[in-house]
Amino acid sequence: MKKTFIALAVVFTAFVFGQTISVYQSRVDLVSATNINNFLSEFEALGVKTTGSTANANTLAWLKNKYSEFGYSASSIQEQSWTQSGYTSKNLIVTKIGTGSNASKFIIVCGHFDTIVGRGTNDNGSGVALILELARILATVPTDYSIKFINFSGEEQGLLGSRAYVAGTLVPSLANTAFILNIDEIGGVTTKANTTVTCESDQTSAGGTANNAPSLAITTNLATYIRNYSSLQTTMSYAYASDYMPFEQKGYVITGLFETNETPHKHSSTDLKSNMDPAYVTNITRGVVGAMQHFAGASTDPTPLSTVSANISERVSLYPNPAQDNVNVGVDAKYFKVFISDLTGKRVLQSENQQNIDISALTNGAYILTTQIGNESVSKKLIVRK
Ligand SMILES: [Zn+2]
Repeated sequence: MKKTFIALAVVFTAFVFGQTISVYQSRVDLVSATNINNFLSEFEALGVKTTGSTANANTLAWLKNKYSEFGYSASSIQEQSWTQSGYTSKNLIVTKIGTGSNASKFIIVCGHFDTIVGRGTNDNGSGVALILELARILATVPTDYSIKFINFSGEEQGLLGSRAYVAGTLVPSLANTAFILNIDEIGGVTTKANTTVTCESDQTSAGGTANNAPSLAITTNLATYIRNYSSLQTTMSYAYASDYMPFEQKGYVITGLFETNETPHKHSSTDLKSNMDPAYVTNITRGVVGAMQHFAGASTDPTPLSTVSANISERVSLYPNPAQDNVNVGVDAKYFKVFISDLTGKRVLQSENQQNIDISALTNGAYILTTQIGNESVSKKLIVRK
């Protein structure tokens, strides 16, 4: 009996550790409780961020500044202005371009930054803090997929910002989007033990039912990764009443996170850091940093981006960059293909075996230029500036 038990124990241990990747774990360990605390305090100090208010605009500027500090270039940070139902505000969209063959496919991580009545440190400063810390840690990590970090406004008036986004021109197509992960209200309750996070899948038929099964699969994996990379338990539930719903209604695959101990302070002046559990936010962030590396195909090379020696990446150079009417793809191969996509993943140009490419038809902005040599491909950011 004892021998059998030991053998089983070994198998079980191997199984558990098989779920984590040590390089990913080392990046999970970069999640800083101090950062999460500071993000929450700074968010709270920005006041009541009602959609359209000065405090709301100041929060958007604060967010932009954070992404810049993390190393995201001006061309990868977009503001989207919108007017809906008598409200005018802005969403903030930050695009991290993937470096692999799935670079034209996006994972969207989103959460609203507007609040109502109170300062909203839990609803949704907690989601904002997680997204900032995730974006900070992934900034220098090459990923196969592209990622968009989106901070929506107008959520509290009826998902106005996310509705404007899915109705607009900046959203990647269904085919170019892997899934949407929405983070809304993950602060927990200070008087309770916050040991479980709720993972939400699509259980409605509003956007057709074809997206329900993939949503459940993603959500199940998300829950597994969270358990593996944090000390939390998970519980499964359904998605409702937050910024993933406009995506769901268009057929996108969605998933979401929500606190299991639900705060009694939401939408009131007492939605403050003192009434929530910042350590819980840190713990959930650890789980999401682990999960997102698996989902996005993060590099397993432990060295930072500046010293990553991906062979194909070194074989391809772009110049000039920024470029005006022509860009040169320096490549040591006779047969290769070049695809250029915009930041929604839409292909705008392609060519074959051509080092000098006419891009005079492209308007100003950031693009993804993918060079394919044989079975390998590498994507790089191309800036067009006339
Ligand atoms: Zn919320």
